[in-house]
Amino acid sequence: MIGGGTDFKSVPLPVRLCYDRAQVIRLYHVSKVYPPRFAALNDVSLHVQPGEFVFLTGPSGAGKTTLLRLLLGADAASAGQIVIGGRNLARLGRQGITRLRRSTGMVFQDSKLLPGLTVLDNVALPAEAAGASPRDARSKAFALLRDLGLKDLVRRAPPSLSGGEQQRVAFARALVNDPRLLLADEPTGNLDEESAARIVELMRRAHQGGATVVVATHDPALLRSLPGREIALRTGRVVAGDGAPPPE
Ligand code: ADP
Repeated sequence: MIGGGTDFKSVPLPVRLCYDRAQVIRLYHVSKVYPPRFAALNDVSLHVQPGEFVFLTGPSGAGKTTLLRLLLGADAASAGQIVIGGRNLARLGRQGITRLRRSTGMVFQDSKLLPGLTVLDNVALPAEAAGASPRDARSKAFALLRDLGLKDLVRRAPPSLSGGEQQRVAFARALVNDPRLLLADEPTGNLDEESAARIVELMRRAHQGGATVVVATHDPALLRSLPGREIALRTGRVVAGDGAPPPE
């Protein structure tokens, strides 16, 4: 499930309340310290424009996943300020974060599909959580899977799919609520060339459809496959491409 374990159904609120598209991502001097005192992110300032395509690069351990988790609201920053869609995450509270997450799609490296549900139900789940009836959620999921060329998989269980198929279904799940922001963590990390090319196509479509896209990767082939701004991280610091906003 997107965001890992939040009970979406307990918050039947509008999906896109007050989302300020002009402020899709702003980070001001953000740090993330894991106990006892390891700084996975250190004084990171970033500004991502609406509709931008951004690659978050850096070697393993640079802090890419940590940063994506903060953008998703799955983890809180230890210091600094994170503004997503015009909302300061630190001031949103649990319900507000849950609501905001419905405007964000997340794809994890290991797809995180629920093995006991069919492909169709995996993709329908976030739509239902965002307030659609089960029937509408499933028909939305079906239409999307058909659109993405995955119609033949709808009744399959995720464990029976190849890694590439699982990752394409994970993209469908991330896209089912037409997110303003799409986050992907090493989405081609474990895939062969052909499967990776299909994932690239899905990201291109999401971007052309108007989503702001942030992709963490250390795959040079992926970097070459789409035009995008590269923000480079090294040991928790931005070393290139930050596009930090001017002080306000
Ligand atoms: P990347 O995605 O670039 O490989 P991560 O964000 O996963 O980097 O990790 C950055 C650093 O933070 C690494 O040194 C990692 O070991 C550490 N780290 C990540 N998550 C935790 C955690 N929950 N507790 C302690 N350290 C962590």
